[in-house]
Amino acid sequence: MSKETTNHKSSDRPEPPTPIIVIGAGASGMMAAILAARSGLRVQILEKQKKPGRKLLLTGNGRCNLTHLDPGLPSRYHSQLPGCTENIAGQVFSAFGVEATLNFFESLGLLTQDRDGYVYPMSAQAHSVLDVLLAELDRLHVRIRYDCEVTALDCDAASGLWRVGTEGWSYPARAVVLAAGSMAGIAESAGGRVRDPFQLATALGHTGKPPWPALTAMHCPDPDLALCDGARTKACVTLLHGSLLPHPGQPGMAGSLLPQSLAVARPILPAGPDGAAPSILPPSQGRTAPSILPPSQGRTAPSILPPGPDGAVPESGPVIVQEEGEVQWTASELSGIPLFQLSRYASGCSPSCPLMLSFDFLPGFEEAWIQDKLQSLLGTYRGTLSPSRLLGGFVHSRLATFLVKKSGYKDVPPAPEDEAALAQALAALLKRLILTADGVRDHSRAQICTGGVSLSEVEPETLSSRLYPGLFFSGEILDIDGPCGGYNLQWAWSSGAIAGEAAAKYAKGMQK
Ligand SMILES: Cc1cc2nc3c(=O)[nH]c(=O)nc-3n(C[C@H](O)[C@H](O)[C@H](O)COP(=O)(O)OP(=O)(O)OC[C@H]3O[C@@H](n4cnc5c(N)ncnc54)[C@H](O)[C@@H]3O)c2cc1C
Repeated sequence: MSKETTNHKSSDRPEPPTPIIVIGAGASGMMAAILAARSGLRVQILEKQKKPGRKLLLTGNGRCNLTHLDPGLPSRYHSQLPGCTENIAGQVFSAFGVEATLNFFESLGLLTQDRDGYVYPMSAQAHSVLDVLLAELDRLHVRIRYDCEVTALDCDAASGLWRVGTEGWSYPARAVVLAAGSMAGIAESAGGRVRDPFQLATALGHTGKPPWPALTAMHCPDPDLALCDGARTKACVTLLHGSLLPHPGQPGMAGSLLPQSLAVARPILPAGPDGAAPSILPPSQGRTAPSILPPSQGRTAPSILPPGPDGAVPESGPVIVQEEGEVQWTASELSGIPLFQLSRYASGCSPSCPLMLSFDFLPGFEEAWIQDKLQSLLGTYRGTLSPSRLLGGFVHSRLATFLVKKSGYKDVPPAPEDEAALAQALAALLKRLILTADGVRDHSRAQICTGGVSLSEVEPETLSSRLYPGLFFSGEILDIDGPCGGYNLQWAWSSGAIAGEAAAKYAKGMQK
């Protein structure tokens, strides 16, 4: 790839246009440029950073989980547009899906490894993925201009040519692929302004849901959370939209919306012996709550009840999503794969509506069994076993201390007459600890943004704009997103390939 460019001041004598300009040297932009350049046309990438693939290098903790071997892949994506996700994702993936992606990378010399469906480069280094893409761009003589932020885009109606504007420069092109991604993973530089790539599209009249951060940590203001700081625990986590929980004075408000065993939930328990109200839901009156939602299959897509249109999150109303995996605790936030997945839904909820997270730390166990076991252990070690040591055999010791605090009991061996009630309270907390989150972390800490250019404004076969001929979209700038696990990069590869190829076809057509 060559760094010398043919950029011209707007006032200069017009030069022949570059057939195709790709905006953004990220995953989808590089893919689009390669597919476009393979048609034999000249392609130029404009990239605002000093180096390509900055985000790609961060993926999979530096190992790059580049796709997922999920047979139901197209159905895992979400968008705000009812009915559109599967249609568009289905068409895009059937034209250039996982197999085509793996073949593509193999042809570039990148071997991959499958870890339970999660695909990584054999080297386990994201750099390998970037390196093979750059080598191919180089072979195809694709020019990349760095430190070159596109600030304006417009199309000359008479000639049909595009003018891609940067600071003081204008680049003419027959076709443009807008592959500028989202604000996810980008920190605001001190004093500097970071332009949201979505604005490039809206300035042209494209519309869509403004991007929101997703696949990120949730902030939890509970002062006791410091007790868990640094712990990693397995849990099945359910996100309950705050409005689902019945509030005092609204009897049965949510009853018809919730599955039975959650519908009986009330955030009220008799106060613990020292008067502290435990923040748990009461036992579910004989039912084995909360195993009402099918556990998500390993780390696949969450189960959503009831399904929103096309998986979309309603601005208000019922949302129940459940994920299982490792939770990471700090003094103020909760992260790890299950929380990341749930954050996609939490991000869309109204700030006035508290987000309730319900934790089941022992998803494979019945509450009644746990309670019996705890009570029997307390009996066996009467007078010597503190509640936190008791729970230490079930969960991480820091979580054990936190749960005891939440139970309202003192962390000392209980009196014999308190053993049954203590066992009941601890078993309930192990199965249904409820924490309130007050939001998700901002875009700089997010892996993706939901929202973007509406799928209704692009042609599914080409990802071309329905408003302007010669404009194509790829990657995260479109309103489609997938869960953690390689789904978002797969969208970047597939949409980049489709948009790049279609842009080349369009530019060739203009040439004639
Ligand atoms: C920490 C982290 C970990 C992740 N891990 C994974 C993972 O393991 N698997 C997975 O599938 N997904 C992962 N993702 C998500 C994945 O990286 C993105 O979905 C994917 O990179 C989107 O590709 P893109 O090409 O659309 O956007 P990007 O990769 O963001 O590329 C867009 C490019 O456009 C440039 N640009 C933006 N605006 C302009 C402008 N005005 N002018 C010129 N250039 C511009 C940007 O600098 C950037 O280089 C992760 C994301 C993060 C942040």
